Parts: sequence; structure tokens; C-alpha cells
Amino acid sequence: MSVDVAVIGAGIVGAACARSLASRGLSVAIIDRSAAAAGTSSHCEGNLLVSDKAAGPELDLARHSLALWPALAEQLADELGPDMPAVEFEPKGGLVVTTTEAGARPLIDFAQQQRDAQVDARVVSVAQALQHEPWLNPEITAAVHYPEDCQIQPTIATEALLASARRHGAQTYYHQEVVSLLRDAQGHAAGVRTTREDIHAGAVIVAAGPWSGDLASRLGAPVPVLPRRGTVLVTSRMPHRIFHKVYDGDYFGATQSADAALQTAAVVESSQAGTVLIGSSREQVGFDESLRVDVYAEMARKALRVFPFLSGASIMRSYGGFRPYVPDHLPIVGEDPRVPGLHHASGHEGAGIGLSVATAELLTALIGGGTPRSPLGEIDPSPFAVRRSSLAPHLKEAA
Ligand SMILES: Cc1cc2nc3c(=O)[nH]c(=O)nc-3n(C[C@H](O)[C@H](O)[C@H](O)COP(=O)(O)OP(=O)(O)OC[C@H]3O[C@@H](n4cnc5c(N)ncnc54)[C@H](O)[C@@H]3O)c2cc1C
Repeated sequence: MSVDVAVIGAGIVGAACARSLASRGLSVAIIDRSAAAAGTSSHCEGNLLVSDKAAGPELDLARHSLALWPALAEQLADELGPDMPAVEFEPKGGLVVTTTEAGARPLIDFAQQQRDAQVDARVVSVAQALQHEPWLNPEITAAVHYPEDCQIQPTIATEALLASARRHGAQTYYHQEVVSLLRDAQGHAAGVRTTREDIHAGAVIVAAGPWSGDLASRLGAPVPVLPRRGTVLVTSRMPHRIFHKVYDGDYFGATQSADAALQTAAVVESSQAGTVLIGSSREQVGFDESLRVDVYAEMARKALRVFPFLSGASIMRSYGGFRPYVPDHLPIVGEDPRVPGLHHASGHEGAGIGLSVATAELLTALIGGGTPRSPLGEIDPSPFAVRRSSLAPHLKEAA
């Protein structure tokens, strides 16, 4: 088997890259040791946010992605027809609130910095916040409305992107693990060896989510991608009482922090099915999958401060996943100069669902030629390059 591009990982990032490359006429193989959306992309939430991102390259990439998602959701629906469930794209907007006096000022200042970076961030009064979310705690101390925040169903979105990639000729190789890199006489990437076969390819993309760090090391191009645990509580179905993505101001501190210890913040949203998702936690505990009561207790306590009515809700289930964390909080996207032909597309931490589509645009242009674009204009690849200065202290030399 020989293709133009071998994509390792059938999560949302690999799926988006595969679709984008295949739709431009490249032959693509998607390889996963499990199946479609078996990793973090089915153990997360589906928020496409600008509200939680400080001005800088990640926010820029998020804005490009948000500009791409609406048309993509429509294209997927048109292309795949009624047999594929809808990706549930909802431009519902976000509402960030604080519940302490001390938290109010930093939230308002943060919103100002985001407005300077062209984000639509509207400081609203408590009365206006209650008009947006009538079941909100009236004791909140500040609120900012982010009309641009959206939501999708991440597992379905991943499967839809894969189905679309297949329609454009991509082939999937499931239940086979990539174990090593094939190299040509110059040492350039020339494909992958899996537990079943060799797949020859002109370019190889590592899109293995939180496992990318281990895998990239095995392929001779180590990158510092580590798992960062996150958990979510799911209520049983109830009448629709939460209309935006709503979270407390603590959340911003948690996403940007490098602290390995447990951090939680209330992140609350309802799904189209009528359940309410209560997230979320962040901690670096390796690939430990245990679901701990102390973590849930802290998340639930914070969620009740935002929506007191949830105290009567019944919890139907809970789940956890592993965010692909990088120490400088930026994804790694692009060719690895240590192993020409090997490309990285991972490390999106808590934003990979949103950022997947702009990542795919970047990689498609880097591999297939052309300029990466969204409706907002050109996408700058340089902040995400392997050889960026903020990553240098964490980068080991190639094996
Ligand atoms: C609790 C929680 C909430 C989150 N909420 C959001 C959110 O609201 N919005 C958002 O944008 N992001 C969110 N995220 C982050 C998001 O889920 C991730 O950034 C994203 O899913 C990463 O996608 P991926 O394709 O890189 O990785 P994955 O989805 O993990 O896919 C990687 C794939 O690689 C495969 N693989 C690994 N090693 C090999 C190998 N050697 N050979 C073959 N295959 C291999 C795995 O089987 C897996 O299928 C959340 C994460 C968590 C944990």
C-alpha cells in the first residue's frame, strides 16, 4: 500500500486533516489502533470557544476555526445526507460569570483585552445576564456575553469528517497500531509500520492526541505532548433551562495554568438531547482513568454556585478523557525539521475540537502547497512550528 499521506489517529484532528487533504485530491490512509473517535474526541465536550482564550496565537487560530465551522457543518450535512446524524452545530454563544467580588475585575479586564483582539466580548449587567440565563444565580458579581462561542457534538463531528474523507477516497485502517516509522535512504519519513502491515507514504502526520508524545518519540521525533486528565458529569434529561455555554471566571485560570495538581471550574451547558454537562477538571496524573469522588464533589459545588437549581438534578453518568497538553499551551502543527516528511498535528489540549479545522487548513497547505486560509484571511503557521522558541526548552533531540 502506498499513499501520499498517512495520518496516524482517527480523532477529530486526524479526521479533519484527512478530509482536507483528500478533498484536495491527495491519496490518504488514516490509521488508528482502535476505531473512529476512540480517544479524547469522544471523551470531551464540544465547545468551540473564543471566550476562554487570551489574545495571542491560540485565539487567532480559534477565530479562524470559528470562521470555518458553519460552512463545514453545512457541507457535511449536504455531502453525507440524512443517514449521518447531524453534527449539532449550535451558534449558542457563551456567558462567563464570576461569583466573587475578587473575580469580577479580572474578568472585565480580560474581556477588554479580547475586544482589542477583535473578539465580540460584551460586558453585561447582572439583570442582562439573567435575561440571557433566567436560572442563573442572581448573586453573580460580573458577566460577559460572547456571541461568537458555538457548540458541536464532537463524536459525531469526528465521524462525519471521517465519512467525508472516505467519500473523497481516503482509506481507513483500524485496529492496527503504528509501531515505527519507515524511512528512505536520506532518513526522511517514507511511511509507517503497523502491527499488521507497512503503509508507504510521502508524508506522515502524527495526530495521536495525548499519545502523540510517546508515539513521536518512537518515531524518532520526540515532542512534549502529555496527558492532562479532565472529567465531566452528565445529568439525566430535563426541560431546557441553560441556553448558552456558561462558566465561571475561574475557568480561564485553569486552562492557562501549568500546575499539575487538581484544578476545577464550573463549565455548564445543555445538550440537544436535554442532558446537562457539568465540567470540568484538569490534572496531570498520567493515563490514570479513575473517576474520583473528590474531583466530582468540587466540580459539582462550583456548578451549584452558578446554577443553584442543579442541586435537584440527578446524575446519569460521568466520563473522563485526556487532553493533549503542551507546556507552552500551543498545538504543534507542521513538519518536523529533525525528520523531514514527518508532520505533527497534536497538543491542542482543551481546544482540539474547535481548533481541528484550522489545523487541517494549516497542514494541508504545508503538505499540499498553497496558503492556509479561513474566511478571516491567511493563517500564520509560525507560532505552532516545532522549532518555536517557547517549545525549545522542552524539546529533546531526535533519536
Ligand atoms: C473533559 C474534556 C473536555 C474537553 N472539552 C473540549 C471542548 O469543549 N472543546 C474543545 O475544543 N476541546 C475540548 N477538549 C479537548 C479535545 O477533546 C481534544 O483536544 C481533542 O479531542 C484532541 O483530538 P485528537 O484528534 O488530537 O486526539 P484523540 O481524539 O485522542 O485521537 C487520537 C487517536 O490516536 C490513536 N492512536 C494513538 N496512538 C496510536 C498509535 N500508535 N497507532 C495508531 N493510532 C494511535 C488513538 O486511538 C486515538 O483514536 C476536552 C477534553 C477533555 C478531556
